[in-house]
Amino acid sequence: MIIFFDNNLKDGSFNPFDTIIIKGDYDKLRDIKRLLMQRKAVLGGFFLKKVTMDDVLNKDIMELIIPGDKVAHVQVDNPLEHALLVLVKTGYSAIPVLDPSYKLRGVVSKTLILDSIFGMERIEFEKLSEHKVWEVMNDTPPVLKTNESFLDAIKLSIDHTFLCVEDQYGAYQGILTRSALLKYLNHYLRDNKNKESACLES
Ligand code: AMP
Repeated sequence: MIIFFDNNLKDGSFNPFDTIIIKGDYDKLRDIKRLLMQRKAVLGGFFLKKVTMDDVLNKDIMELIIPGDKVAHVQVDNPLEHALLVLVKTGYSAIPVLDPSYKLRGVVSKTLILDSIFGMERIEFEKLSEHKVWEVMNDTPPVLKTNESFLDAIKLSIDHTFLCVEDQYGAYQGILTRSALLKYLNHYLRDNKNKESACLES
């Protein structure tokens, strides 16, 4: 009999010669070994299966996104000075632009704003109050759909520090940063180093 557990192996929940496959937290290994030894399991071994590459590739990207209510944004009709203020105060180089119905319209960055006020002979600061975000924003930002795969996210984020995330109806969900993807991959790769599978001696 093959039993799958998610970090939750309890005494009495398995029999000798069961193959026990643990998905998830690998740190429970010692606890599990102690439990098996207490039961004097006369088995050749238990196999502990690590999170596989398939598990990683099937990762639900929604678990990695920063939800919209935690993402700084500006509105299409905000003056550039407001957008610049938000960008400088938050320390972000670019943020999403939404419309009043909370739909994603683009991305605006410090570079786009500063570029737009550089005249031939001087910096035209007055443009910061005269012009609106929609005039300078990138209106074709990188967008990832919630039903797209982890691999799609990786590919798209090669060229972008963050991706805007929309559901299948086009409703804005938040952003997925390249650093969140790398953090997840780093965790997986380190955790799996030299431990593709392990055998517990009884
Ligand atoms: P990070 O990987 O955290 O350095 O973020 C990369 C980029 O994603 C930042 O420079 C911002 O452009 C954007 N970003 C990350 N977190 C937020 C947030 N909470 N609100 C708005 N933009 C964000």
